[in-house]
Amino acid sequence: MSSLDSLYQQIILEESKARRGGDLPAEQLDATQLPANVGQCHQLNPVCGDEITLRLETEGDQVSGIHWAGDGCSISMASASILSDMVVGLDKAGVQSLIDSFREVMRSRGKHEADEDVLGDAAALSGVSKFPARVKCAMLAWVAAEDALNQTR
Ligand code: ZN
Repeated sequence: MSSLDSLYQQIILEESKARRGGDLPAEQLDATQLPANVGQCHQLNPVCGDEITLRLETEGDQVSGIHWAGDGCSISMASASILSDMVVGLDKAGVQSLIDSFREVMRSRGKHEADEDVLGDAAALSGVSKFPARVKCAMLAWVAAEDALNQTR
């Protein structure tokens, strides 16, 4: 194992415990009427059992908050935590571009190197792309964020 791989594994382990953004109160999960600046999406990965309900808040063109509730494997939880740390303060186009870059790496089956300047700590998940069965674990929160973002006006 290279030192980069072990650094990446350490980031995944720490982030899966940190669960940043994982503070969405259970009583808010079934919210049917959300303000126009808030989007919410539920995603399930039946293969692994990962589940997330993610809520994204915007203020004008900026993402002002992200909160989620969920459970799953360490990859899915680390990915949600890393995503949550990255998107607040970005404008909507910036978040979409980040999601696109992450998806490109994840779908590359290990062929596409992650650019840490673009993906930050999310580059730590790039090794997952070599294991197609686990890609959904890593993508779960990002797919939810993309859907939630598209709901905001
Ligand atoms: Zn998983």
